[in-house]
Amino acid sequence: MLSKAKKSLAAGIEKLIDLDGVIKKRCDRYIFCYHRVMAAEQARQEGIHPSLWISPERLSCHIEWMKNVGEITDYHHILEDHQPKKPLFALTFDDGWKDNYLNAFPVIKRYEIPALVFLVTNAVETGQIFWTEDIAIKSQRQFSVLGLSKVRESLFVCFPEAKKWRIENELSFLAAIHMVIEKLKTIATCDRDNFIKSYYSLLGVEPFPLQGYILSWTEIKEMSRFKISFGSHTNKHIILETAQNGQIEDELKLSKEMISEHLHVDIDAFCYPNGRYSGKEGALLAASGFKYGFCLDNQPLSCSRSNHYIPRVLVSEQKLCDAASLKLSMLQVPFFKYKVHRSSVDHHEDR
Ligand SMILES: [Zn+2]
Repeated sequence: MLSKAKKSLAAGIEKLIDLDGVIKKRCDRYIFCYHRVMAAEQARQEGIHPSLWISPERLSCHIEWMKNVGEITDYHHILEDHQPKKPLFALTFDDGWKDNYLNAFPVIKRYEIPALVFLVTNAVETGQIFWTEDIAIKSQRQFSVLGLSKVRESLFVCFPEAKKWRIENELSFLAAIHMVIEKLKTIATCDRDNFIKSYYSLLGVEPFPLQGYILSWTEIKEMSRFKISFGSHTNKHIILETAQNGQIEDELKLSKEMISEHLHVDIDAFCYPNGRYSGKEGALLAASGFKYGFCLDNQPLSCSRSNHYIPRVLVSEQKLCDAASLKLSMLQVPFFKYKVHRSSVDHHEDR
């Protein structure tokens, strides 16, 4: 309800105020974060969370908008030019999805623009999808095969808390699955693995993670010959906020080495899985040779306090359907501003 009211309020404001004009005048810098790039039907079939995909057509429209309002540039330039004459934009893609090669790469080539893709090196090596998406896709598939009551029952057995939720159709079942995924992110790995094992067994699906969703080194190399750069998103997509320093150092070192070895370039960019950090990571990133750390705090670069906690703005098909709200959030208008991740330790580093 609130989001509906917000959307119509934003549309009303845009009728009165030329928001593109305001963005042009501000000359701020924005780094956008995308995830999967795919057709709406495929996103529906795979049960992808609405904030994590965009269609190639919508991506093209967004690029056209950026070119009209300002200039698209690479991540080095946008981070170094502190007083641009027009708004600057940069594109980043998280997780290293194969659909970035299949669906985003043709768009990027057509516009001849730079982009930065963050890889999870263990996923590239093994070709295995992340457990989060594995659960969502398998749940969605089995919903189509078995129907609501059977899949809902499997969920209830493994996750009794879900009995309290209203799960009455495909949409509410998928919403429940995404809520369960969020809960599973907060528990110990062995407990999570046990949950997944018993849920998959009841659901009647393979326990092994799905293959064919992650970029291969061959595709990455082909993309790197154009204007696409690559950064690290850890080796195993671990959440740094709750990890021990030793584990973080290992993940940083290994992922950086692997990408450098394959692409024969130094890797200076890192992106926080789930956009989460505690504030202790900046020093670890610097010690591992990463100049830049990218977060997801939905702010322009004028709000950035450190090159190891660079804010980006999350965009998706859903967000761009409500472009006025997105523009108001980019302008940091109260009520439209998105949530900023608060670290438990404050970080003050020199730029
Ligand atoms: Zn990620």
